[in-house]
Amino acid sequence: MQGLVIAIDGPAGAGKSTIAKIVAKKLGYVYIDTGAMYRAVAWKVLAEKKLDDEMTDAFIINAAKNIDIDLKYENDKTVVRVNGTDVTNEIRTPEVSGAVSQVAKLPEVREKMVTLQRKMGENGAIVMDGRDIASHVLPNADVKIFLTASIDERARRRCKEMTEKGYDVSLDEIKRDIAARDKADTERKVSPLVRVPDAELVDTTGMSIDEVTQKILSIAEAKRS
Ligand code: C5P
Repeated sequence: MQGLVIAIDGPAGAGKSTIAKIVAKKLGYVYIDTGAMYRAVAWKVLAEKKLDDEMTDAFIINAAKNIDIDLKYENDKTVVRVNGTDVTNEIRTPEVSGAVSQVAKLPEVREKMVTLQRKMGENGAIVMDGRDIASHVLPNADVKIFLTASIDERARRRCKEMTEKGYDVSLDEIKRDIAARDKADTERKVSPLVRVPDAELVDTTGMSIDEVTQKILSIAEAKRS
């Protein structure tokens, strides 16, 4: 039997990548972090930009035009390369987080990413996480999950993660970034963050990683039988 296509969408900091990674590993599936792809474009835009007011739509679209993004899952993490350069750590900085929604709202950028994502998903046995996976990228996915948590919990988790990586960030700052990204991602015209009617809502507030993983595995198991 061909492996399932599992789509996990949800707002920033809901734990999508943590959970998707574990679920994929347990099932022996490929994991695709689509947020990393938009972050890779944002990283390239920031790297090429010399002045602040240079970051126009035209500048972003041009930077995205000749981008070659390579995602490889190696040693439990997604290694991201942009035109051959390893940017795995660079795409997680607060600067990239602050710029990514501006980049991701442009249809020209999305079209290119979605084409790549659909290609990655065509053979099944995949867990893909993002904002528009069930609604747009893989609308025929076998399993659709909308993963969320309260804004306070999401901010706390993200703050812990960033502090552990050595960034000097405050909880307030992270909460503001998450709220701004949620707003931009939900309100944009093209493929906004949305829970499709047939997506199972999983609110992870107060749940452990193990509990969330088990919940999603049981939803997937039910689809198989
Ligand atoms: O998942 P992550 O928080 O790393 O995603 C970073 C940003 O990329 C999101 O805030 C959103 O603007 C964009 N994104 C998107 N569509 C996706 C995945 C991410 O627009 N499928």
